[in-house]
Amino acid sequence: MNPYQYRNRELHVEDVPLARIAAAVGTPSYIYSRAALTEAYTAYAKAFEARDHLVCYAVKANSNLAILDLFARLGSGFDIVSGGELQRVLAAGGDPAKVVFSGVGKSADEIRAALEAGILCFNIESANELERVNRIAGELGMRAPISLRVNPDVDAGTHPYIATGLKQNKFGVAYADAPALYSRARSLPHVRIEGVDCHIGSQLTDLAPIAEALGKIADLVERLERDGIELKHVDVGGGVGIRYQSETPPPIPEYAEVVLQAFRNDRHKLLFEPGRVLAGNAGLLLTRIEYLKKGEDRSFAVVDAAMNDLVRPALYDAWHDVLTVTEENPAAAADVYDVVGPICETGDFLARGRRLNAREGDLLAIMSAGAYGMSMASNYNTRPRGAEVMVDGSEFQVIREREEVSDLIARERRLPS
Ligand SMILES: *Cc1c(COP(=O)(O)O)cnc(C)c1O
Repeated sequence: MNPYQYRNRELHVEDVPLARIAAAVGTPSYIYSRAALTEAYTAYAKAFEARDHLVCYAVKANSNLAILDLFARLGSGFDIVSGGELQRVLAAGGDPAKVVFSGVGKSADEIRAALEAGILCFNIESANELERVNRIAGELGMRAPISLRVNPDVDAGTHPYIATGLKQNKFGVAYADAPALYSRARSLPHVRIEGVDCHIGSQLTDLAPIAEALGKIADLVERLERDGIELKHVDVGGGVGIRYQSETPPPIPEYAEVVLQAFRNDRHKLLFEPGRVLAGNAGLLLTRIEYLKKGEDRSFAVVDAAMNDLVRPALYDAWHDVLTVTEENPAAAADVYDVVGPICETGDFLARGRRLNAREGDLLAIMSAGAYGMSMASNYNTRPRGAEVMVDGSEFQVIREREEVSDLIARERRLPS
């Protein structure tokens, strides 16, 4: 399904023209398609339906309550990386018994809150975290459910900032250390071993490193069973990548084949932590052109969205397609523009070198912005974050109001007189 279509030369999300949303809620705004979110989740769930499994949506990709609510209603669990994300899941009606907690720096307060909420599993990322979780669970008179996040030392072939499965990365415990740490975990009175976990990186477009990593995890599972360590689940981490430009990420059924093949000989429940693949292509950033600035060397379309709204281009040199909301007439003259924001940084660009037939005041859609867009937004340059809108058929609903500057300064204080 493509939820983005031109009808009468006007770009729509499902059945709603983007111009109508801009008129009602202003720009910049994030716009999501409920049908696209639902379809992405369903594709994942369907690919694994023959096997006992749980999809745990990675909250950090897009943590809006309405999106968490939608996934919870579809049956999803959640992968969280902070106590704040746990509070979001609970506020959105998510089931804590379907929550896994990843991250290298879980604080004592976060561990306590997760134990009290009754989460499914802690994905333990170091020997010292294992000891801390055991101690806190003991103080609460509980046993903490744990997996070890094992780093299989595989190059995921993605951007270095989102590769997490190499031994020089901060994530997980070394593959070779895992059996000894599981023995240690077994001896601790306040932890209960639930499974094993890995996550080698994000925006993976090649199945070979995934197959390699999962092969190593399957070997480890076998070894642990031989050591008498019983596991209930195997968590295979984040999802595959999405198409931003010309990438050809594997279709979900092909990914599923690789996963199911790796674990064909065991009966464990499989856990998945997809984020980007569920939300990425279900959202766009809607922005308006403030100025066209033509230069000798380069021309700029200065828009009202900026790197504080969508940092991926600045942070990862990421590509996002840019569409004019009014369909371009292919015969009309076009210019090549850098699409830039108002922020005082040369890194403040959303797209570079794009051929656009655009005028000041026109709306642009920055595509594939549903994941790691709003969830990474900041208030740099005292820019209130934009609204978020969910489209459902011919209706749309504001799921996050636009911030005001008063929200931004509300917790600040002048000096005493
Ligand atoms: C970010 C993250 C994910 C989600 O990755 P995607 O590429 O968005 O699917 C899953 N698991 C962990 C531990 C993560 O840090």
